[in-house]
Amino acid sequence: MQDKFDKYARQDAFTGSTREEWEAWKETSRETLKDLLGWKYMESCDLDPRVEEVVELENGIRQEKVIIQVEPEVYMPMYILIPPKQSEEKQKCFLALPGHQGAGKFSVAGRDDIPAVKRMIEFYHYDYGMQLAKRGYVAICPDCRGFGERRDEALQKGTDEKSFLTSTCFHLAHMAEPLGETVAGMCTWDASRLIDYVYERGEWDTDDLGVVGFSGGGMQTLWISALDDRVKKCIISGYLYGYRDALLLLNGNCSCNYVPHLWEHFDMGDIASLIAPRPLAVQSCRDDHLNGPRGLVNVTEQLDIVRKAYSLYGKEEYPIHDVREGDHCWHEEVLDIALPRL
Ligand SMILES: [Zn+2]
Repeated sequence: MQDKFDKYARQDAFTGSTREEWEAWKETSRETLKDLLGWKYMESCDLDPRVEEVVELENGIRQEKVIIQVEPEVYMPMYILIPPKQSEEKQKCFLALPGHQGAGKFSVAGRDDIPAVKRMIEFYHYDYGMQLAKRGYVAICPDCRGFGERRDEALQKGTDEKSFLTSTCFHLAHMAEPLGETVAGMCTWDASRLIDYVYERGEWDTDDLGVVGFSGGGMQTLWISALDDRVKKCIISGYLYGYRDALLLLNGNCSCNYVPHLWEHFDMGDIASLIAPRPLAVQSCRDDHLNGPRGLVNVTEQLDIVRKAYSLYGKEEYPIHDVREGDHCWHEEVLDIALPRL
């Protein structure tokens, strides 16, 4: 398989040298990626938003539970954390997308009143939605498909903590891929519907809309930021590395990472380069096993691809690369480093 990868991978990487060539490549590459993700099967509909619950938290943050319709009869619940307004200007806003093992929105939104979630927050520092809200940002923390309240039937039945924390994205991948769909495609679609909702609601500053995610949330941040220019800045943590090391040599990752035929066309750095020239911060942990056997080398090689795209715009300051010690984990410090520069 490694030989095949070397023979067939990355046939549509950018080979030009000017900004004009790159912008033409960007347009065709986005279309290729949407095809690979299976977007032609996604159906739009009214968002039909409903506020189900409002809780004023002790820290002064308002926690709304909202549900929107992302496809006909497909619903996405979320927590929206709204800090007190500090001025008359529209509040700045981040989508905070969840990764594995955190029960979707529950960890990201900081629901540490649930013991299993509290442990995951302590282990992965998983409550980056709440961390943003405490810094004055509106943080929108959804369940992506297969997570939290969107787990499929197979794992909804269990009442144990493991069933609650885990996800059914691999079940979903098995059903989706023979139909030409992908989990990454569905999650990216849902993130785009979430942006539709932010626009429709009209309360927050869409000129400054950010997206952040750790691990599988980093994967979703990568895809939606690459494909949707309404994303104005993004932070990807624990998910930017070359496919050969991270998803081929390491081949035990969840099925939701895999997009059929993707590697023939692009490596991850090619996808991330579509975020240029918008502000991008990447956080990596030096001993993150998901980087693969070559460690950070597998990250910096991809960032070099990304950096070339930014250099065409004279934006050498991006991507910001925040390297932390230890294994796979979100580190809040990236917010203090990146937010003033994004
Ligand atoms: Zn998964």
